[in-house]
Amino acid sequence: MSQIAVYPGSFDPITSGHVDIIHRLSDMFGEVIVLVAQSGDKTYMFSAEERAEFVRKQFSHKKNVKVDIFQGLTVDYMKAKGAKIIVRGLRAVADFEYEGTLANINKKIAPEIETFMIFSKPEYYFISSRGVKELAKNGGNLSGLVPDIVMPELVKKLKK
Ligand code: ADP
Repeated sequence: MSQIAVYPGSFDPITSGHVDIIHRLSDMFGEVIVLVAQSGDKTYMFSAEERAEFVRKQFSHKKNVKVDIFQGLTVDYMKAKGAKIIVRGLRAVADFEYEGTLANINKKIAPEIETFMIFSKPEYYFISSRGVKELAKNGGNLSGLVPDIVMPELVKKLKK
């Protein structure tokens, strides 16, 4: 069995919910690749390089956590790396519907790749990058919702 877990997402920006998932994965798998998506269809607050850098900084002490940026199908990236496990996080029922569809599409186009779902801890289930950005725009308190390194960057970005 492959020991590489690929955790793809926008991470715009990485939140405490993502951080918790990555920690849990790094205890379970030989290598975790956090795959920062760069999609031409989406508008991001942070560039792919900025988003990747937040993850890199947050996990600089974890030898088995790697970060990469990718544009295209996650399964194509995985085939190139020889990875067979995609991990996605689940919070509420709404995630289940979306993630279920995504997992089935990936199964159809790459049957050898499995999607593993991991549940959010109760204290993080309400956290989303989108919610965090809304809160930041309205001057809300972000402590505990995003890593400390992200907080000043959000404030800086919003001042521009
Ligand atoms: P995407 O835009 O691809 O959904 P996100 O960066 O929003 O990317 O999320 C990446 C993955 O992490 C998704 O599977 C999402 O459901 C999951 N996720 C996001 N926030 C949390 C959280 N608070 N707890 C657990 N999983 C989460």
